[in-house]
Amino acid sequence: MYDDNNVFAKIIRGEIQTNKVYEDEEVLAFHDICPVAPVHILVIPKAPYKDYIDFITNATSQKISNFFTAILVIIDKLNITESFRLIMNKGTNSGQSVFHFHAHIISGKTLIGLINE
Ligand code: AMP
Repeated sequence: MYDDNNVFAKIIRGEIQTNKVYEDEEVLAFHDICPVAPVHILVIPKAPYKDYIDFITNATSQKISNFFTAILVIIDKLNITESFRLIMNKGTNSGQSVFHFHAHIISGKTLIGLINE
């Protein structure tokens, strides 16, 4: 069940301010409040999907395509096409803490190791 009191739902409704880097009709991207690298952007669909499975299962192919194309536009805009990492956490054990589907774009430093254990 999607909970519309999550922080990203509040950002979409304009109740919490963010440092936006991209917006279109379906997608919003903004700087992570607690960056783990010089570039740390969160990309979210504006529609209410709680995680990757919810999004891929219930969004239309066009909306899924638009979301991932928007990520490419953002990467291009930030001039980080040479090197970046995309992360989509699903579930508490993966590290998901906000239950509105999102992708992290991380770049700007050498990333060593796939995960921190
Ligand atoms: P995850 O742990 O994959 O669910 O990622 C959630 C991310 O949201 C974390 O990296 C947080 O730092 C980030 N975050 C939480 N609240 C805000 C906010 N108000 N503005 C920007 N980023 C946020």
